Amino acid sequence: MRMHLKIILPGLLCLAALSGCASKTPVVVRSQALPAAAPVPAAPKPVEITINGVDGFQDTPLQPDGKWHVHDPARPQPPIVTPGTFSDQATPPSDAIVLFNGKDLSQWRDKATGGPVGWRVVDGVAVSAKGDIQTTNQFGDLQLHVEFREPTPPRGGGQGRGNSGVFLMGRYEIQVLDCYSNLTYADGATAGIYGQHPPLANACRPPGEWQTYDLIFNVPHFDAAGKLLTPAYVTVIHNGVVAQNHQAIRGATNWRVPGKYTPTGPTGPIALQYHNNPVAFRNIWVRPMPVNNEP
Ligand code: MG
Repeated sequence: MRMHLKIILPGLLCLAALSGCASKTPVVVRSQALPAAAPVPAAPKPVEITINGVDGFQDTPLQPDGKWHVHDPARPQPPIVTPGTFSDQATPPSDAIVLFNGKDLSQWRDKATGGPVGWRVVDGVAVSAKGDIQTTNQFGDLQLHVEFREPTPPRGGGQGRGNSGVFLMGRYEIQVLDCYSNLTYADGATAGIYGQHPPLANACRPPGEWQTYDLIFNVPHFDAAGKLLTPAYVTVIHNGVVAQNHQAIRGATNWRVPGKYTPTGPTGPIALQYHNNPVAFRNIWVRPMPVNNEP
């Protein structure tokens, strides 16, 4: 197939461009055959594979460790730890900003539209639906408390079971998933930094039971030219068990790709994911917490 482009001969364009131009010179138009653009090869389709009962991918880029692919099903599973009690229904400290206390989601907006959230609040619990939500306020370094409950009876498997997420600065996802008796690729497990760092332990409670996240997060820093100076760091305590220990984040988290930084300002919203599963949330509060790096 060949494309044709109409060419207007020189000398006429300038006249036509002038307001009120009334040139009587006849306009000659001709067609000139141009070579067809080279077809753009279609991106290869992702190939999902299963290793030891874990669905995942090995057609993805390697992690910086050079050993595991992004979402590699062969990557070792986190050890299962039965949690004790820790911060269940923790009363917010006096200086905390309460983001959800069971009444409404007035401090949240739909992430995509900026309009009202599609989530429902029923019996003091917010249930994910329709789209991601994010706070209207922006936060930098912080301490964050979140409680979530996975649907019961559980439905689906792997990444399809109780998937949600806590996005720091709206772009770095701490995975929320039902990994109680549910295998998935390690870098997508509960309390993992999605696609990057598996959790140090699987401390999941059974679906239907409330679980806690307590996060400490440090924002990344960039120089004036946008070059990364220091990465973001996160500590994640899941049901009282450390799942990420001041772990450096490799950039924005996404499906099948390694993390990548794009320069940001010093703050961003906290976002919660809707991933086709109704995951319940309650008791969400945050304490802005500036870092003092002086020795
Ligand atoms: Mg998720």
